[in-house]
Amino acid sequence: ASLAGLDDRVPTPRRVQNRLHPALPVTPPEFENEPDTDPALAANREWGRAILERSADSGLGVATLAAAAVSDLPALQQRIRSSASAGADWSRTTGADRAELLDRVGEVLSVFRGRLIEVMAAETGKTIAEADVEVSEAVDFAHYYAARARELDSIEGATFVPEPLILVVPPWNFPVSIPAGGVLSALAAGSAVVLKPAPQARRCGAVLAEAIWEGGIPREVFDLVDVDEGELGQALVTAPEVGRVVLTGGYDTAALFRSWKPELPLLAETSGKNAIVVTPSADLDLAVNDVVKSAFGNAGQKCSAASLVILVGSVAESERFRRQLADAVSTLAVGYPDDPATQMGPVVEPVGGKLARGLTALAEGESWLVRPRQLDGTERLWSPGVRDGVAPGSEFHLTEYFGPVLGIMQAATLGDALDLQNAVAYGLTAGIHSLDPDEVAGWLSRVQAGNLYVNRPITGAIVRRQPFGGWKRSAVGPGAKAGGPNTLYVLGSWEPVAAPP
Ligand code: GLU
Repeated sequence: ASLAGLDDRVPTPRRVQNRLHPALPVTPPEFENEPDTDPALAANREWGRAILERSADSGLGVATLAAAAVSDLPALQQRIRSSASAGADWSRTTGADRAELLDRVGEVLSVFRGRLIEVMAAETGKTIAEADVEVSEAVDFAHYYAARARELDSIEGATFVPEPLILVVPPWNFPVSIPAGGVLSALAAGSAVVLKPAPQARRCGAVLAEAIWEGGIPREVFDLVDVDEGELGQALVTAPEVGRVVLTGGYDTAALFRSWKPELPLLAETSGKNAIVVTPSADLDLAVNDVVKSAFGNAGQKCSAASLVILVGSVAESERFRRQLADAVSTLAVGYPDDPATQMGPVVEPVGGKLARGLTALAEGESWLVRPRQLDGTERLWSPGVRDGVAPGSEFHLTEYFGPVLGIMQAATLGDALDLQNAVAYGLTAGIHSLDPDEVAGWLSRVQAGNLYVNRPITGAIVRRQPFGGWKRSAVGPGAKAGGPNTLYVLGSWEPVAAPP
C-alpha cells in the first residue's frame, strides 16, 4: 500500500488529544474498574482449568458467525442500508436510554467472562490471565461509555449529532476488548454499528456480539458482518452510509483504506515501535521486571509492547542489567494456554509477516543476548529473544515486529536516548525507568508518544485511568483516546459549539 497519503499529516499533539471538549464536564463520571479474576484463589484456578479443558474443542460462536457471513455485494449493501436506517432511529434515543442498555451489556459481559476467555484461548492462544484482563477492559468500556452517554443529555448550549452508522474494524491481538471499545463507544454516541471481526479471531467477535445482543442492543442497531478482506471488505469500508471507520490495526492497513477512499472518515490507532529508557538512577530490579512484562506479554503481540530498551550511561556499561534481563527472559515458561504454567503463549501469525522476518531471519544473525528458538516445529511457538547492540537507524530500531523479540540499544545520555526513542515514525507508548524527578520531568516534556509510563510497564492501559491512543504514525484521524473523556465526541459532531481542531 502507498503510504503517501498519510506521510505528511501533522502529528496531533498530546495536548489536543487530552483537551476536553468545552461542553463536557471536567469532573469524571462515577465509575469503578472491573476487577480481574484472582488466581490466588483455588476456586478461580479450578474455574480456569475447566475453561481450558473446554477450549480444546470449543464450538462457541460458530453458529453466530455463520449467520454473520456475507458473500455477495447486494447482500452486503442490504445489510449496510438496514443498519444505517436503524441508526437514524437510534440517534434519536437519549443518552440515558442508551446508557441503561450499555450498563446491561456490561453486566452480561461479566457473566460471559468464562465464555470469552474460552474462545480467546481457542482461537488466539491467549493465556487465561491475558484473556481475563481483556474481559475486564470490555466490561469497563461498557460502563464507562454508559456514564459518558448520560452526560450527552445534559450539555448546555451544544447538541451532539451522532453519525447514523459507524464501522468498527478491530485487530486480532485484543479480539474482545478492542472491538468492545469501538462498538460500545459508537453505540453510546448514538450510532448504529457494524463490526467486522478480524479474520484470525472471528469467533471472538461472534461471542462478543452475542453478549451485546443479550444485553438488549437491538440486532438492527448492532450487526456483525463477516466478509473476506478482498472486494467485499473494500466495499464495506468505503460504503457511503458509513460515517466513521474506527480501525485498530497496522499503519499500512490505514494507508490501504485511505488509498481506497482518500476522504475516508478514518479514526485509527495504528502501529508502534516502543521503547523503555533505563537511566543510571533507575531501580534496576523493577526495570527488568517491567521490561520483560512489556516486551513479552501476549508474546509481544501488542501495538503497545516494548520492542526496545535503551540503556543510558553506566547501565549500558555494567553487565548487571543485561545479566538480570537474560535470566528473566530465558526462564519465562513458554507454551500453550492449556498448560496453567504457561507465561508466554504462541504467536498468532507465524509466516509471511514482519514477525517472520523478525524471528526467522534475525534469529540467524549474531549478537543475541538470548537467541529466540522455534520450539515445537509449528512456527507458532517461539522462545523469547533479546538482541543486543541494535544500531541506530537499523531495521530493528525502526520496524514494528509484533512478536516476542526485544532489542537493546545504548545511549551516553538521557538526551541521546530520547533522540533514539523519538527517531521512530510511530509514537504509541514510551517508558522511562528513573528515580530522579528532574530526569523524569525532562523526559516527559520531550518524548513523542501518546501514552507515557514512568516506572511501570508500558502495556496495560486502563479505562478512564489511562486513556489509550497514539501520536505520529500511531494514530490517523482526530486522535482521541480509547477509554477517555473525548472518545465519544469525535464519533459525531457538535452544533453549534465547534469542536476544537
Ligand atoms: N490497550 C493495550 C495496552 O495498553 C494495547 C492495545 C494494542 O496493542 O492495540 O496494552
